[in-house]
Amino acid sequence: MDLELLERTLADAGEPAFRARQVWAWAARGAEGYDAMTDLPVALRAHLDVSVPFSTLTVADQVESSDGTVKALFHTADGRPVEAVLMRYRNPLASGRGGADGGARAGGRRSLCLSSQSGCPLTCTFCATGTMKFGRNLTTSEILDQALHFRRIEPVDHAVFMGMGEPMMNLDNVLAACRRLPDAGITNRRTTISTVGWIPGIDRLAQTDMPLRLAFSLHAADDALRSQIMPVNERYPLAEVLAACRRWHEAKRRPVFIEYVMLAGVNDRYEQAAALARVLDPKIYKVNLIPYNPSGSPYDGSRAQAIETFRAALGEHGVRVTVRLTRGRDIAAACGQLAAARA
Ligand code: SAH
Repeated sequence: MDLELLERTLADAGEPAFRARQVWAWAARGAEGYDAMTDLPVALRAHLDVSVPFSTLTVADQVESSDGTVKALFHTADGRPVEAVLMRYRNPLASGRGGADGGARAGGRRSLCLSSQSGCPLTCTFCATGTMKFGRNLTTSEILDQALHFRRIEPVDHAVFMGMGEPMMNLDNVLAACRRLPDAGITNRRTTISTVGWIPGIDRLAQTDMPLRLAFSLHAADDALRSQIMPVNERYPLAEVLAACRRWHEAKRRPVFIEYVMLAGVNDRYEQAAALARVLDPKIYKVNLIPYNPSGSPYDGSRAQAIETFRAALGEHGVRVTVRLTRGRDIAAACGQLAAARA
C-alpha cells in the first residue's frame, strides 16, 4: 500500500498517529485486506478500503514452477511491469519427505527475489531485463508490495534484490524498503543487495546502520571482457569496484558475495578462474557461480562439467566457492530471465 497516502488519509480523518503503524503491522504480517484488521474501527476500515488501495501493484499473472518457485508479474498504477519471485528451498531436516516440490512445503527457507526498477537502464549482454525498455525506479511502497504479495501466501524469511533493475540506482527507496522488511519477517541480515558494481551505492551501503549483505556481479576478471559483456564496466572499472567492496568490508566486517555467471567459451576457462582468484582476497570474498539461464542472449551456458572444473580451479586457489542452485527456469523466473515485456 502507498504508505504516504495511508498516513495522509489517516491524518485527514483525524486518526491518532499510531494508526498508520497499526495498519502497517497487519499488512506486514500478511493480512488479506483492511477487513482483517480487527482492532481498527469498522468505519475506518471501510474508509481506507475506498481511499487507499491495499496494494500499489496489481497482479497481472502468476505462475508456479515444478520446483515450487512462484513468479508474479505485477503492474504499477501507471502500467509499468514488475516481476518478483518466491523461491522455496528444501528444509534439510525434512529431507526424504519431499514430494514433487522437493520438500519445500515442509518448511525450508523462503527467499524473495525483489525488483527495484521496472526494467533496467544497464545493458548487460546476457540479461533479459537489460533488453527491455527501462521504465522507472520503483517507490518504496512498490518494492514492499512485492514482498507483501508473497507474505500473504506464506511466511518468508530472506530477500535478495536480484530481480529487475539495479538497486544501487534507486538506493533511497531500496533502503527505505529494507527498514520495513523485518516487520514482514525478513531481517536485514537476511537481505542481500546485488549490484553491477555501482560504486557510489556500495559506499553509501557501507555508511548505513543496517547489516545488509552485499553481492557484486563480477562475471569477468579482466576489464576488456567485462566491458564487452557489461558496458557499465567502462564507467566503474573492476579494480575501482573491488576497492569499494574492500571499503564496505572494512566498515561492515562481513563477506562480499561475488556472482559469476558461467558463459560457455566466454568466461569459463581455467586461466580465467586463476585470474579471478588473483583479484579476490579470500578473506573478503565468497564466490557464487551462476549457471547461465537462457535469456534470448547470444550466449550458451557452460556445461555442468565446465562449471565443476571452474569451481575446482577456484578452490585450488584458496577461494571459497559455491554453485547457485537454479530455480524456476521452466517458468522463466530464474536469474536474468525477468523481462515482463515478453512474458
Ligand atoms: N542489477 C543487479 C541486480 C540484478 S541481480 C546486478 O546485476 O547484480 C541478477 C543476477 O543475475 C546478476 O548477478 C546478473 O548478472 C545475473 N544474471 C543476469 N542474466 C543472467 C542469466 N541469463 N543467467 C544467469 N544469471 C544471470
